[in-house]
Amino acid sequence: MAEKLLIIGSGPAAWTCAIYAARANLNPVLYEGALTEENRQRGTLPLGQLNLTTDVENYPGFAKGVLGPELMEAMREQAIRFGTRIMTEDIARIDLSRRPFVVVDSAGASAQAHAVVIATGASANYLGLESEERFKNHGVSACAVCDGALPRFRNKPLVVVGGGDSAAEEANYLSRYASSVQLVHRRDALRASSIMAQRLLSNPKVRLVWNSVVEHVRGDENSGLTGVQVKDLKTGQASMLDASGMFVAIGHTPNTAFLAGQLELDPKGFIVLKDPFRTTTSVEGVFAAGDVADPLYKQAITAAGMGCKAALDAERWLADENID
Ligand code: FAD
Ligand code: NAP
Repeated sequence: MAEKLLIIGSGPAAWTCAIYAARANLNPVLYEGALTEENRQRGTLPLGQLNLTTDVENYPGFAKGVLGPELMEAMREQAIRFGTRIMTEDIARIDLSRRPFVVVDSAGASAQAHAVVIATGASANYLGLESEERFKNHGVSACAVCDGALPRFRNKPLVVVGGGDSAAEEANYLSRYASSVQLVHRRDALRASSIMAQRLLSNPKVRLVWNSVVEHVRGDENSGLTGVQVKDLKTGQASMLDASGMFVAIGHTPNTAFLAGQLELDPKGFIVLKDPFRTTTSVEGVFAAGDVADPLYKQAITAAGMGCKAALDAERWLADENID
C-alpha cells in the first residue's frame, strides 16, 4: 500500500516537515540516510550538516547557543514523538513518472508514496585536484569538527581553504588544536558574515593568505600530508605552506543526483521551486525544502521554515486529491 507522505532527508527541513506532517496525521515515513563510510566522507550522514558543527548561535530559542548535534537529535526526537517512522537508508532511486511515486532505498527495498518531500540538503565541495583526492583521509578533510581533533592534526600547522562562514568557523575551531592555521582564500575579501570574519581576523593563531589558490598537496605514505602549494593570483608566485592537514570549506553542492533529471533543477543542481512562496516543484505531488532548493539563504532556520511549508503544502495537496 502506498504511504501518504514520504520525506527524504534528515536536516532541519526534513525533521520540521516530519513534525508538522505527523501532527497532521499524515503518518509520514522519513528516510534519514544510511550510516555508510561514503556518506561520512561526503558529509551526508543522518542528521545533516549541523551534526558536523559545534556551536549554533543563531537558531532562535537558544539564548546561549546550542551544539549542532544536540539540536538535531532534539528535532529527531520531536518527530518520533508524534509518530514519524524512520528508515536509516538512502533513497538510491526514485520514479516520479507514475503515481503513486516509487522509491528504492540503499538496501534495495522499494516503497510507494502519494506525496514526496525532498529535503536532502547539500554536501561539501572539494577542489578537484588529483593530489587532494590522494590525501583524503590522510590529511585532507572537509569537516573540521569531525576530524580536527585527530592526533595527526594536533599541535600541527594546518591549512583551511575558503572565505565563507564555514571556512571562518573551521579555522577558528581548528586553532584550538593546531599549532597554527593558514586560511587560503582566492580573493582579498571574505564572504563570511561580519561577526564570523571579525572572530577570524582577531584570532592570533590564524594567518590569512589572500588572493591565493591551492595548486597541489604534498605528502607521502608514511607522514601523510606535509605541505600545500599555493599560487598568489596577483603575482603568479607559487609557495609551499607547511601543513599536516588541509580542510576544504568551499561551499556545498545540492544532493540531487539521485533524482536523475526527473525534477527541474537549476544549472547548479538546486531544485527549482514553481512558486517562490511555496515548496511545489515541477512534478505535482513532489515538494522540496531546505538547502536542496535554496541557493540563497542556506541557514538552519530557513531550512526548518521550508520544511514546515512543505508539510502544509503536501497536506493541502493530498486533501485536494482526496487521498487519505
Ligand atoms: P542538511 O542539513 O543538508 O541535511 C540533509 C541530509 O539529508 C543529509 O545529511 C543526509 O543525511 C540526508 N540525505 C541526503 N541525500 C539523501 C538520500 N538520497 N536519501 C536519504 N537521505 C539523504 N546554519 C545556521 O543557521 N547556523 C549555523 O551555525 C550553521 N553552521 C554551519 C556549520 C557548518 C560546518 C555547515 C556545513 C553548515 C552550517 N550551517 C549553519 C548551514 C546549515 O547547516 C544548513 O543550512 C542546514 O543544515 C540545511 O538543512 P537541510 O534540512 O536542508 O539539510
Ligand atoms: P559559501 O558561503 O558558499 O562560501 C564558499 C567560499 O569558498 C567562498 O568564499 C568562495 O569564494 C570559496 N570557494 C568556492 N569555490 C572555490 C574554489 N573552487 N576554490 C577556492 N575557493 C572557493 O559556503 P559556506 O561557507 O559553506 O556557507 C554555506 C552557508 O552556510 C552560508 O549560507 C553560510 O552563511 C552558512 N553557514 C553559517 C554559519 C554560521 O552562521 N555560523 C557557519 C557555516 C555556514 P568566493 O568568496 O570568492 O566566492
